[in-house]
Parts: sequence; structure tokens; C-alpha cells
Amino acid sequence: MWSMKGVIGVYSNDDASRKALNLLYGVQHRGQESAGLSTAGDHSLRTWKGKGLVSRVFHEQFKSFTHPDDYVAIGCASGENTNKGGLPPLEFESERYKLSMALDGYIPGKETALDEDILAGKIIEKMQTHEAFDGILKKTMLDLPDAYFSMVAALLDKETEKSELVAARDVRGIRPLYIATNGEEFFVTSESAPIDVMESMDGRVDERRDLAPGALIMMGEEGLMERQLLEPRHAHCAFEWVYFGRPDSVIEGRNVHSVRKRLGHALVETHSLAEQYYTLAKPRGDVVVIPVPDSGRSVCVGVAEALGVTADEGVIKNAYLGRTYIIDDPEYRRIASDLKHNIIRETVKDKKVIITDDSIVRGTVSESVAQNLLKAGAAKVDYLVSYAPIFHPCFSDPPDKPLAAAAYKGKSLTEIGESVASNLPSINNVRYNSPENIVKAIGLPDGKICTYCISDHNPFDRD
Ligand code: 5GP
Ligand code: MG
Repeated sequence: MWSMKGVIGVYSNDDASRKALNLLYGVQHRGQESAGLSTAGDHSLRTWKGKGLVSRVFHEQFKSFTHPDDYVAIGCASGENTNKGGLPPLEFESERYKLSMALDGYIPGKETALDEDILAGKIIEKMQTHEAFDGILKKTMLDLPDAYFSMVAALLDKETEKSELVAARDVRGIRPLYIATNGEEFFVTSESAPIDVMESMDGRVDERRDLAPGALIMMGEEGLMERQLLEPRHAHCAFEWVYFGRPDSVIEGRNVHSVRKRLGHALVETHSLAEQYYTLAKPRGDVVVIPVPDSGRSVCVGVAEALGVTADEGVIKNAYLGRTYIIDDPEYRRIASDLKHNIIRETVKDKKVIITDDSIVRGTVSESVAQNLLKAGAAKVDYLVSYAPIFHPCFSDPPDKPLAAAAYKGKSLTEIGESVASNLPSINNVRYNSPENIVKAIGLPDGKICTYCISDHNPFDRD
């Protein structure tokens, strides 16, 4: 699966750990398998982590493990395989430093090790030289040309007994990383939404923006240091706007919900849907537009807007079942999807259902939802997908991952939709966006977005 994790960091002399926990709740959508925080101050650095949601891991233990004098806190909510050599954040120690690190990204190397283990291992190795941290990180980035990471770390210098907050982003900026400050306090989060929440809960922020790709920040007693270690070579993951990001986040200046609505408009235009679903310039009463929750919601609003119809709710998700995507066994994934989605009969009975979703990867969720729509009395199911056909697994994915569209690479968008639909018996038609539509809806220049999984542009080949 695409690797994804929510990372956060705080430097504050006023309840740093509590602020870090608040931010951590705000990135929970990026990973539900485990959560952890490391907090540090003068002399000490400690980590508390466990399997499960943030609320579960920190339910009782939070007060006993944090210290009011701590001024650095970092943490993560992780969706990655929790059997891989421990849970993040991971602590490391060299002669002079103690370091705790969490990252959202992918570091090629040992399959059995956590990404943090590989990256921090390289950093610790270089720390023996007593070189400054920015020089060490720059060399590490150059040593790992195929890696990408949005990284946060707490760094305790055992000589000065002071701690610092560290955050850095790879040169391509594949994963998002957002920073905010009011001069005295400094905050880092995977996405902007948790910063909004903090501000509305009385946190003061004067400056807020994405951390530039290839940049490093360090915040300690002596204030903020920001260094551009390497020139940015922007290649932001398109799927952040399509699926990973919260609708209320702004990534590289583009609000996620608005991008998804534009993806809905683009589907209507590309496939001339208005012509097909209108009679005498009026929406037909036998057509209904509904989303697969939650990621199909914003695109559904966009489709409905462009068609001039009202979006409705027809598929209800049982949110307590968690993510079905990470289940490998197709049979079990199908059961999990059936268990997770129920249909509101009144919305769909005898209707031609236009259903919106972010993506079809293997086709399990889409077929399960469509079959249940038919069982509930829908006349037919047209599937609108805001993303494009996926041809390549992401860099962190197993290369042999089954992808519903991969066999049809080279065919037209319409042909691919028809071919994929022909393998999904309950679906009448699949309509995708093109990679060009996606870049346009995001609104950044083509060369600044990674579309590797849906195109032939590999940002690691651009040298
Ligand atoms: P499929 O059954 O086609 O493999 O799954 C597609 C569904 O999984 C889509 O509804 C989408 O919302 C979700 N999905 C797609 N990519 C990812 C991912 O990388 N991680 C997670 N957790 N879910 C995903
Ligand atoms: Mg989904």
C-alpha cells in the first residue's frame, strides 16, 4: 500500500506535550495502527507508544509520562505494518545525542526494518564525526537518492543537556509537511487542518506554510534555524489531494475539498455526463448521485454541482470497522467491505445510481458496494472515480500488487473504464479522470506533481 503516516512536532514552553497530543488527534486519519509521542526537555527524552488509535494509546498514560517542563514533543499516527521491528517513533543514541524520530515516507532498504530505523541509522553513523546536524542531514539525503520523507525528530544534546525540535522534508516533497509559528512556539504537522484546530482553541499563530522540499528546521533555546539543504525538485504526490488528505487541509496552497470538487466537475465534462443524464435540460428524477463515504463525498458534491442535481446519501459507512484497504486476503477484504457499508433503500430503489469514489485499486470495495446497491433495488450502477486508472504500484508497494486497471494500459480512458467494469459484474460503467484532469484540478504545474502510479512520469528519473 502507499505508505502514509501522520507526523507532528511542537516546540513550546507552555504545555508542549498537551499541544502535541492535540495535533496528533488531527493527523489520525493518516494512520490508525499505532501512535506514539516522544517528549524532551533539559536532560531527558522519553517515548510512549502503543498499538491502536491515539485516544487508546494516550487514554490513561499521558499525564504520567509527560513532564510539565518538557519543551519539545514529536509524534506520529502510523498505518504501517506494526510487526516491522517496533513502533515509531524510534529512539536512537550516539555518544553525544539522544534522538527520537518519526517519518512519513519511504526509505528503501531492509524490508524488515522501519523507515525510521534506516534513516536514523544513517544519521547516527555520521553523528560520530561531531559535524553540525544540518551537514549530517544533507549528506544523508544525498546518500539516499531514492528515499522520500517528511520527518520530525526530538534531539537531546547530552553535553549541553538541551533539546531541540527538528523537521525536514525530502527534495521532492512527495509527502506534505506544514509548519506554523508565533515567534516563541513552533509547530509541525503533516497537514494544515490540525493547525486550524489549534488556532481556534486559542493557540496564536502568526506565520503558517508548507515546509519547502529539501529544507530543514531546528528550533531550540536559541530560536529558529531554517536551512535549505538542497534545491527543491517538487513532485508532490497527487493522491494526497485525491484521498490521503483531510478535505479541510490546504496542501501546497490548494484546499483538498476544492480540488476534489473540481475532479467531480472534470468527470462530468470529460464523459459528457450532463448530456447523458439530462432530459430537456432538467435532471431526470430516476437518477441519483451518491458518494462512497468518506473519500467520495467532495467529488460527489462536484459531480452534483456540474450536473445541477442534489447529491444524496445512499451508502452509509460503519466508521468503527476501521480501514479495510490494508487487508491483503481478497476474500476477507470483501467480507470487511460488505460489513462496513449499508445502503439506504429509499434513496436508491428503482434509481439509476451514479456513485462517486476516489479510486479503484483492486476493485473489491467498488464491486461490494455496487452489488449491495443492486440488492437494495437500484436499477443500475455507474461508477465515477475521481482518480485515474492506476497502472503502477507506488514506490513503497509490492511490485506485483494486483491492480484492476494495470492490464489495460495504453487503451483510451473510456476503453479502460469499460474493461474494468466488465470484470466487476455489478457495475454498469466505470468512468475515470485522466492524469491531465488531475493535474489541472490540483492547479500546480505538471512538473511539480508526482503522478507515477497513473502515468509514466517517475520523479526519481528526472535527473
Ligand atoms: P479496492 O477494493 O479497489 O482495492 O479499494 C479501493 C478503496 O480503497 C477506495 O475506496 C479508496 O478509498 C481506498 N484506498 C485507496 N488507496 C488507499 C490507500 O493507499 N490506503 C488506504 N487505506 N485506502 C486506500
Ligand atoms: Mg474509500
